[in-house]
Amino acid sequence: MSVSFHIEKTAGKARLGRLVTPHGEIETPVFMPVGTVATVKGVPQETLEELGAGIILGNTYHLYLRPGVATVRKMGGLHRFMSWPRAILTDSGGFQVFSLNELRKVKEEGVTFRSHLDGSSHFFSPESAMEAQIGLGADIIMAFDECTEYPAEPSRVRASMELTARWAARSKKYFEDHKHEVPWACVGADAFVRPAGQSPACASGDPSLRDLEAQSLGSGLRPSGRTSASAPTQALFGIVQGGMDRELRKESAERTVEIGFPGYAIGGLSVGEARELTREMVESTVEHLPADKPRYVMGVGTPEEIVEYARLGVDMMDCVLPTRAARHGLLFTSEGKISIKQVRYAQDAGPLDPNCSCRVCQRYSRAYLRHLYASNEVLAQVLNTIHNLSFYLQTMRTVRAKLGAESTPK
Ligand SMILES: [Zn+2]
Repeated sequence: MSVSFHIEKTAGKARLGRLVTPHGEIETPVFMPVGTVATVKGVPQETLEELGAGIILGNTYHLYLRPGVATVRKMGGLHRFMSWPRAILTDSGGFQVFSLNELRKVKEEGVTFRSHLDGSSHFFSPESAMEAQIGLGADIIMAFDECTEYPAEPSRVRASMELTARWAARSKKYFEDHKHEVPWACVGADAFVRPAGQSPACASGDPSLRDLEAQSLGSGLRPSGRTSASAPTQALFGIVQGGMDRELRKESAERTVEIGFPGYAIGGLSVGEARELTREMVESTVEHLPADKPRYVMGVGTPEEIVEYARLGVDMMDCVLPTRAARHGLLFTSEGKISIKQVRYAQDAGPLDPNCSCRVCQRYSRAYLRHLYASNEVLAQVLNTIHNLSFYLQTMRTVRAKLGAESTPK
C-alpha cells in the first residue's frame, strides 16, 4: 500500500476525509507544519505529537545539501532519522531552487543551481529529485516542477507550464521504476505486527520503528496498512502550475491528471500575487481536479485563508507562516494578530490567547513572553512557535468539526 484517500462527508465544496499513509491516518482538511531540515524549528517531536500534528513537511533541497540523502537513507529514512513515527511529505526541491533566482539555470534536462550554503554547484532533474525523495523516504513525495515566477509574460507562463508537464511524466516514470527502493519498504507499517527479521526482504527488521509506531498508537493515531500483504511504498503527487492564468491552470490540471497521480497539488501560488488572485486560482483549479483524490495547495496561508481554501474543497495545506512569524514575535490568536514585542504587553498578566488551550497559553503571561522576546531568549522562539502551530492545528480541527456538523454523508 502507499496512500489512500477516503471522503467521508461533504459540505458544499468542502470535504471531510481520511488520508491513510504508511505512517498513520490523517483527518482532512489538514494543516501540515513545515520542518525544513528535519525539524520544525524550535519544537521537539514529542511536542508536535502533543499538538496533534499527523503529518509534517520536509524540504528536499535543504536535506539534499545537509545532511545529504545518503546519510538520511543510511539512518533508515527521515522517519527514523528524526524519530518521527507519523507521516511526512517532502517537496521536490523545485520551489526552493526557484527561490534561488540568480543561482539557478533551467534547461529541459533539469536545473543547475548553486548551494546557498557554500556556493557549490548542483543539478536537479525530475529523475534525481525522485531519487533524492525516495532516499529520504517521506510517505508523500512531489513531482519535480518549475515554479513560474510572478509576474511573467503569457508565453513564458505557457512554456513553464509545459515544461512542468513533461517533468511530471518523467518524475512518474522514475518513481514507478524505483519506488521499491524506499528505505522502509521492507519494514514499514508491517514491522509493527511482524517480528523483527521475518520479512524476507529485510535482514534484521526495524525494532526502533516498531517502538515509534507503538508510541504513535498510544497517542491515539492508528498505524495503517496492517493488513496489507505487499510492502508499503511512497505516493507521488503531481503539481499543477500555469501562473495566474485560469486557462493555463485548467490545461495544466488536465495534463497532470492525464499522467495520473494519487493526489494533486496546486503549486506556484504565494509568489507575490494579490491574495484575491491566489484565491481565484485555487478556486478555478480545484474544479479541474478529480473529486476522489486529495488536493493540496502548497505554501498557503493565513488562518483565515486556510479556512477559506478548505471551504473551496482543498484537503491539504502547508505554510511557513505560523512558524516563521512566531520567530519574529508575531502571534495568531482568536482575537487577532499580536506583536508580542510591543511595550504594551510588558506588564500584561493575561494569557497570550484566553481561548487557546495550548501549554503556552495555559502557563505563561503575555508579559513573560514579551520579556523573553525582548531579551532575545531561545525560549521565546520555542514558546511562540508552539502557540502558533497549536492555533493553526486547532483552526483546522474547528473547520473539520463545523464541516462535520453541516455535512451530508458521502
Ligand atoms: Zn496558545
